[in-house]
Amino acid sequence: MVIDLKRCIGCQACSMACKEEYGAPRGIFWTKTLLEEVGSYPNVTRIFIPQICNHCDEAPCEAVCPTGATYTDEGTGLVLVDYNKCVGCRACAVACPYNNRHYLPNGGLAPYWEGKVTSFEEDSYKYFQEGTSTKCVGCVERVNAGLDPACVVACPTDARIFGDLSDPDSEVRKLIRARHGVQPSLEKGTEPKVYYVD
Ligand code: SF4
Repeated sequence: MVIDLKRCIGCQACSMACKEEYGAPRGIFWTKTLLEEVGSYPNVTRIFIPQICNHCDEAPCEAVCPTGATYTDEGTGLVLVDYNKCVGCRACAVACPYNNRHYLPNGGLAPYWEGKVTSFEEDSYKYFQEGTSTKCVGCVERVNAGLDPACVVACPTDARIFGDLSDPDSEVRKLIRARHGVQPSLEKGTEPKVYYVD
């Protein structure tokens, strides 16, 4: 994925699309956009930095997992979690330099609002298991069906571009070359599969 910082307007449509697609429980956002005010009055502006799991090629969250619960999907290259193997030790959360692992405690699959679990929540919560460490799954079902991830589709300014990084002629690779795309915290050696252009 390429994220175009010039295009992001901080609307959080990506965050909401992710919530709609997977219904992450309260307090868990698999993707979000950070807002920061910079400058001083009257020369103040806001910058927006969308964040998502980088589905690292050298994922430290996978390397430290003692049970093999975190793994890289061969077909898509996405970093996924087998909740049935996860023991909830949270080593992955410590290892991820980007804060992209989210522990779901016991009782975490509670109603979003007061009252009982809605049918939407009931359907969504099948993607989660209490006592395990969750993460963005890169909309693996959509990708396998030839569709772009929900956050990419929902972005009204096309600030997120999804494509095949292994293809030198893909739109994402062209964009990275043309605009000198950078990977976040490259010095960590994680080989992120998300690039930012500005
Ligand atoms: Fe794992 Fe963090 Fe890399 Fe995502 S960004 S693959 S959670 S180390």
